[in-house]
Amino acid sequence: MNIQEQFKNIELNKSLKELTTFKVGGSAKYFLEILNINELQVCIKYCNKNSIDFLILGGGSNILISDNGFPGLVIKIKSQGIELENNIFTVSAGVMLNNFLQFTLDKGYVGAEFLAGIPGTMGGAIYGNAGAYNKSICDIVNSVLCVTRGGEIVEMEKQDCKFDYRNSVFKQNKYIIFSTRIFLERGDVENSKQIIKKSIEDRNSKQPLEYPNAGSFFKNIKLTNEIRNNLRNLDISIFEKSGVIPAGFLIEKAGLKGLKVGGASVSEKHANFLINYDRSMAIDIYNLSKKIQEIIFEKYKINLEPEVQFIGEFEV
Ligand SMILES: Cc1cc2nc3c(=O)[nH]c(=O)nc-3n(C[C@H](O)[C@H](O)[C@H](O)COP(=O)(O)OP(=O)(O)OC[C@H]3O[C@@H](n4cnc5c(N)ncnc54)[C@H](O)[C@@H]3O)c2cc1C
Repeated sequence: MNIQEQFKNIELNKSLKELTTFKVGGSAKYFLEILNINELQVCIKYCNKNSIDFLILGGGSNILISDNGFPGLVIKIKSQGIELENNIFTVSAGVMLNNFLQFTLDKGYVGAEFLAGIPGTMGGAIYGNAGAYNKSICDIVNSVLCVTRGGEIVEMEKQDCKFDYRNSVFKQNKYIIFSTRIFLERGDVENSKQIIKKSIEDRNSKQPLEYPNAGSFFKNIKLTNEIRNNLRNLDISIFEKSGVIPAGFLIEKAGLKGLKVGGASVSEKHANFLINYDRSMAIDIYNLSKKIQEIIFEKYKINLEPEVQFIGEFEV
């Protein structure tokens, strides 16, 4: 059976640009919205059997899709379910983090405030162990229901999820997250709302939200003796307590704020934000990121690792 016969609601040559926060990139050869885990399993098995490459798309807020698009099947998990039982929220991968946060507050629960302002889905957050203000999604996750690359449905307990800084077993093995169980406790909702208000104000003042972007482009750097030595000409004492050097600090110190390639630029407001400031192509953002990596390596012998996921071909 060909793919259109197998999946009646499949779309062909679907433009992905508007489905990402960078607002760049080409089309998906095939595009399919999935509502339940059985559909997802059928879909993964079909792709395996027919050697079709697939990509799971969440809120598109941590990806850079090539101008040539994605030559396989893009799967969007649309399910929006959130259920609450005995302090455990069961949340579908397609739920936007802000909607989840609002739901928890409406029910009188606290502890998910750090998710405020992260414009992604629950699935994307679990995949990259998203976080802010010294907390990550792994701090509140109990278990994750996923489909393996082979098409098997598995419930993974937290200890098996191998959560680390912007990393997880799902990212390493490309497992597909369908839903997650999250543990929260009841608490002072008014206090939570104040915390959320402050963090949104903080983001508005520090982040270039007026331009399309994908959040922090590069991962922060763990402070080791080697890094201390490489950065001996900079005053990094304020980072000793956290043990982490923000990538944006190095990019700023290297004088790269405002650096441009085509329509892409390093934000003047926040050096770890690459922005689509004027009809950028994906390749402009890609080339800008390469240029930053080269300069930072030349200056500090540090390899900046992208947090943003590159999708499709960039080098020819
Ligand atoms: C303004 C702004 C601020 C941001 N602030 C933060 C922040 O404070 N902290 C932070 O951590 N991030 C931040 N981000 C980055 C981003 O929002 C998060 O990484 C978010 O978790 C990505 O989720 P998403 O649904 O958009 O994923 P996408 O961008 O759609 O996908 C990212 C990766 O996850 C994979 N993926 C998505 N869903 C699934 C799934 N169900 N199963 C398997 N794989 C999946 C995709 O295949 C892709 O490889 C910010 C981004 C922006 C634009």
